[in-house]
Amino acid sequence: MELRFIQTAVRLIGEIAHPTRCGTCGLLSETGLCPTCRAEFEPADPSFEWFGSGLPLLFRAAAFRYHGRAAAAVRHLKYLPNPFLFEPMALDMAAAFARLPLTPCDVVVPVPIHPLRRIERGFNQAEVLCSRIEADVRTDLLRRIRRTRPQAGLDIDRRRTNVRGAFSAEPAVEGLAVLLVDDVTTSGFTAFECGRELLRAGASRVGVLAYATGGQASEGEPHEWHLDP
Ligand SMILES: [Zn+2]
Repeated sequence: MELRFIQTAVRLIGEIAHPTRCGTCGLLSETGLCPTCRAEFEPADPSFEWFGSGLPLLFRAAAFRYHGRAAAAVRHLKYLPNPFLFEPMALDMAAAFARLPLTPCDVVVPVPIHPLRRIERGFNQAEVLCSRIEADVRTDLLRRIRRTRPQAGLDIDRRRTNVRGAFSAEPAVEGLAVLLVDDVTTSGFTAFECGRELLRAGASRVGVLAYATGGQASEGEPHEWHLDP
């Protein structure tokens, strides 16, 4: 059999058995994020910010700027949803976790979505992003008790009130250092509200690690944190 035919057959069978497309641009790719898209992801700047112990969040860390193809990947992960992105984005998150310049937390807590939204979507994107982090990932310590509108598209004041009182933390969090994980932080209100609830339930400290952070004027997303305790 001619070699080229075999190579073509193997490639076609491979694509049928393991069809992989870039989750951002849709082109065939060996991984769920093609090199072209991946090269355009910009590191978050800053990638780590201290806020201080007087606030619900001690720090915010992020892997990438919420911009361009990184922002598209975040949206495709959640809204399409595109399962090709699960693995590469989870690996990105594990790498960002490994780079954190602080003592590892006791538990990693993915920011919860409401149970009804979970049924609709079939998964929580924040849990997907935790799947490769080598730590104690806990989904039983924080619940979303009120369904909220997506923060994207709301102005800054509505973002604040939209998530107020939306979360409830379990007493089992007492004494634990918590790292929240979310797909994106823009205004920061969601992580702020989670932090407030976790501290109220007795967590020793709370920080947040997001896949992407910030926002561009072109996307209509304010990049501003209002961390009044
Ligand atoms: Zn691509």
